[in-house]
Amino acid sequence: MPRPPAVARVAPPAPLPCMKEGIMDKVIYLDNNATTAVAPEVRDAMEPFLRELYGNPSSIHTFGGRVAHYVEEARERVAHLLGADPSELIFTSCGTESDNAAIRSALATSPERHHIVTTRVEHPAVRNLCQLLATPAPGRAHYRLTELPVDAKGMLDLGEVDRVIDDDTAVVSVMWANNETGVVFPIEEIGALCRKRGVLFHTDAVQVVGKMPINLARMPVDMLSLSGHKLHAPKGIGVLYVRRGTRFSPFIMGGHQEHNRRGGTESVPLVAALGKAAELAEKNMAVEQTRVGALRDRLEKGLLAGAPSAMVNGDREHRLPNTTNISFEFVEGEAILLMLDQFGICASSGSACTSGSLEPSHVMRAMGVPFTAAHGSIRFSLSVYNTEEEIDRVIEVLPPIIRRLREISPFGREKLAAAK
Ligand SMILES: *Cc1c(COP(=O)(O)O)cnc(C)c1O
Repeated sequence: MPRPPAVARVAPPAPLPCMKEGIMDKVIYLDNNATTAVAPEVRDAMEPFLRELYGNPSSIHTFGGRVAHYVEEARERVAHLLGADPSELIFTSCGTESDNAAIRSALATSPERHHIVTTRVEHPAVRNLCQLLATPAPGRAHYRLTELPVDAKGMLDLGEVDRVIDDDTAVVSVMWANNETGVVFPIEEIGALCRKRGVLFHTDAVQVVGKMPINLARMPVDMLSLSGHKLHAPKGIGVLYVRRGTRFSPFIMGGHQEHNRRGGTESVPLVAALGKAAELAEKNMAVEQTRVGALRDRLEKGLLAGAPSAMVNGDREHRLPNTTNISFEFVEGEAILLMLDQFGICASSGSACTSGSLEPSHVMRAMGVPFTAAHGSIRFSLSVYNTEEEIDRVIEVLPPIIRRLREISPFGREKLAAAK
């Protein structure tokens, strides 16, 4: 018999320079609301499932069954972090999928209702879906959409939530904390209102899980979304919580996985990673609330004192401990980020210059932040891995950058001239 041709030998790719030199060690990473580093413990927890424990958790044989045990163990850990029952959790591929699954399920299980309530400051995972659902198109139902406004501090008016809910409302979807400003919404009160009015309530809690204690057993929340890569697990894993007794219609149809609620073989390595990340988050909760909060306050204080006309966007009282959004008036956010990047400092801006437009973010617009300030808004989001030295470095480096940018910006020059 002729032997099959040998597989061509291809040289493996060279390691990335940053891996080889370890230069990424020097990065000051203050962009944790975008994504977080995978915790070393989490990486270790995944490892067995990338090596010997590769079975399919749905298999009949013991080899697969063993893996199913670890999936359930991870589910219990995440449930513990949330104060939920493990049976209420569905593993998904990301926060975006969880948001889509929740809203689509609410609509599918209340076919007689055609009104969606959300806010103007949601993450695109909710906002773009709701706006699509509200767009008339042939062959598909479309919905009435109410996007609740926020005030200058990014806060919602509870009375307004109550006013907009009507007999036609199928679902209210309000984020627990805003990714750009860190502003925390009164989810318990909103949930109570929804319950009183008999409307399903979903919250996008992607930014809250791991940063603030959550006890879903005592919260009037029907569905909740979270994402692994925002709490030191890798990208590609999320959870949708669906309160027991809540009708649910699957978003992804397929096999019987996740009790028929989400088709597709569970990503066991990522599920195990999320389980470990949930356990770590519980352990680090106190650190998040105290040390991370203190570092954030130190950064904020240093920048407000050091940089001309810096101001904080969003309510400073009802806010995540790790986030600050600061506007540097008359300077462009992108320019600030590029200069920070030269010092290895990672943050992000509130304007969406990447899309080619110079529009400030929808969150800054909803809050009515003046154009000149919205353009210079920078989000710093910390994690338990940040140090005081890193924060002090930013306080040292950033104010001179702002002063320089203001001198060369046409806005800044006018402003300086006017001040003279
Ligand atoms: C990051 C984020 C998401 C999306 O999560 P992915 O896992 O990246 O899809 C949704 N909502 C909020 C508030 C987020 O910060």
